Formats: sequence, C-alpha cells, structure tokens
Amino acid sequence: DKEKSNASSVAKIKVVVRKRPLNKKELAKNEEDIIETYSNSLTVDLTEYVEKHEFVFDAVLNEEVSNDEVYRETVEPIVPIIFQRTKATCFAYGQTGSGKTYTMKPLPLKASRDILRLMHHTYRSQGFQLFVSFFEIYGGKLFDLLSDRKKLCMREDGKQQVCIVGLQEYKVSDVETIKELIEKGSSSRSTGTTGANEESSRSHAILQLAIKRSADGSESKPPRLVGKLSFIDLAGSERGADTTDNDKQTRMEGAEINKSLLALKECIRALDNDQGHIPFRGSKLTEVLRDSFVGNSRTVMISCISPSSGCCEHTLNTLRYADRVK
Ligand code: ADP
Ligand code: MG
Repeated sequence: DKEKSNASSVAKIKVVVRKRPLNKKELAKNEEDIIETYSNSLTVDLTEYVEKHEFVFDAVLNEEVSNDEVYRETVEPIVPIIFQRTKATCFAYGQTGSGKTYTMKPLPLKASRDILRLMHHTYRSQGFQLFVSFFEIYGGKLFDLLSDRKKLCMREDGKQQVCIVGLQEYKVSDVETIKELIEKGSSSRSTGTTGANEESSRSHAILQLAIKRSADGSESKPPRLVGKLSFIDLAGSERGADTTDNDKQTRMEGAEINKSLLALKECIRALDNDQGHIPFRGSKLTEVLRDSFVGNSRTVMISCISPSSGCCEHTLNTLRYADRVK
C-alpha cells in the first residue's frame, strides 16, 4: 500500500539539483548554457579549467522538468510518513535568481493537498488536524508572515521541542484556504525599498505544515504534534559573502546568512553520520529547526542553479555546498 509506505523506505537525506532555463537577459547577452545534465549527475563545462567538473547527486532535474515532477521527486514520498511521527524539512538553496522561490512556492500546496487527502480517506475519523504557519528569519530575527510581520521569539522546552512564542498557527481543512495563506505570507516577505527580490534574498522563509491529533479523539484537550513538514526558501547563497560591504546593516546580514548556511550544512552532515552531537547553536536558522534534526527526521535539499556561463562561480559554489551535504 503506497499510501502507508513505511518510513525506512525513505532516504534520510536526499540532495537534488534543479537547473533552470536560460532567461531572456542571459540570452540577450549571448551567455551560454554550461551545464550538461544526466539522471543523477551533471558536468560544468568551463574551458578555463583543466579538470572536468563532474558532480553526482541523488537526482538532477533539468530545465524541462515541471514543478509537478519536482514535487514527485522530492516531497511526495515524505508526505505519508509525516503521519508516522516524522519531521521532515525541504530546503531550496542557491544564489538569488536561481529559482528557489519558483521551486519552493508550489510545494507546500501540493503537499497539503496530499495530506488532506490522506486525512479524509486513509486516516478518516482518526482525529488528525492540519496546521499552517509561515515566518521569516531576517537579520537573525523572526517575523510572523501571517500576522503583519509581528516579531517573534523562540524558546526551548528542554525536551528538544522548539516553541516560537506567539507564532500564528492556522488550522486548515481545505486547499483554497492554504493557498490564500501562502499568498498572504509570500507577499509579507521583506521587501524594503530597493525591490522585492533584493530584500527577500536576505531572508529565510519558513513555511510549516504540522499534523496534530487530539488524544483519543477528544476535543477538550489541545491536540498534540504528530509530525511536521517544513519548507525553507533560504536566503540567496551569494548574500553570505556580503561581509565586506560598506553598509553596516548589509555586512551584519551577510555575516548572519553566512553563519546560518554553514551551520545548516554541519547539521545535515551530522544527521547523516548519526552523530550524537548536532551543532544547532550555530545560528537562528538551525536553532529554529532543532527539533527537525533530532530523532526520526528526513531532509531534502534542492539546490537551484542557473545554466549561464555568467553565473559559473556561484553555480560551482552551490554545487560544492550540495556535494558537502551528502
Ligand atoms: P530566487 O528565488 O532563487 O531568487 P526565483 O525563483 O525568483 O529565484 O527565479 C528567478 C526568475 O527565474 C523568476 O522570474 C522565475 O519565474 C524564473 N525561473 C526560475 N526557475 C525557473 C524554471 N525552472 N523554469 C522557468 N522559469 C524559472
Ligand atoms: Mg526568491
């Protein structure tokens, strides 16, 4: 029974690369596509490098792959095991403009469609409930994207559960409502005055789908967390290099992003090695995700890359990062 697939059949860590098509700007500048893709590997063709740059991942998705196929390859296999006490996280990593938001935005909606279907059919009358929350980490601070960017703080309960004080969680039972919440949250992301992509590229956006269940179906007690699926649209990876900028604010944000992306890599690596010690405390991002790095957890990293020769340095950095995660 595919719907009740068991947890042991789903890899603990999956690293996928998604290559986007060349855009109009790149085509106008006569930039070339330097990425050749195969089913689970790719090569970067750089004439100035002598050695051949070949990378192997769990899957490589080329520019013809649709968002539906991305979902099938990454999140779909995880959805059923969220009902079996699993916490899973899906990240989009890459430089600004590489396709992180394009890739990430449709995934929670597709996942909630499947979650609701399981709740209404396979697990009917078993008291499962679905909750949505959406927040942002910007400059090391937390903001609620579903609550007028209310500033939030984080607390640990000593049992490796993370509590974000004041975070709005919406109980949802239909896809339309979830769609509205995703739209609302997305439009609340940091925009500043310099333009949407500019500012949002300095923040991590975190959308969480939580499955809870009331004890023996009773409505009187608060429902308890069963499993959680987090979708993280990470800050632009090139922003971590903004640590020498003349503007102090930009420099501080750059340092925070750099710290969080390094800490994230270390945490995922520690997960893979089943190390007892997981270095959460490195950054706000990893502290917030703490409970998703312990126990029964699953991680999917989608590394987004531009095919363009003009982006080759950033692309190589992204591929090396993804390579280190596994
Ligand atoms: P990021 O979030 O990494 O900064 P975006 O997701 O905003 O990048 O993508 C940059 C631009 O490229 C957007 O206009 C987006 O629609 C387009 N784009 C990204 N990935 C793809 C893709 N796989 N197919 C078609 N267009 C894409
Ligand atoms: Mg984006």
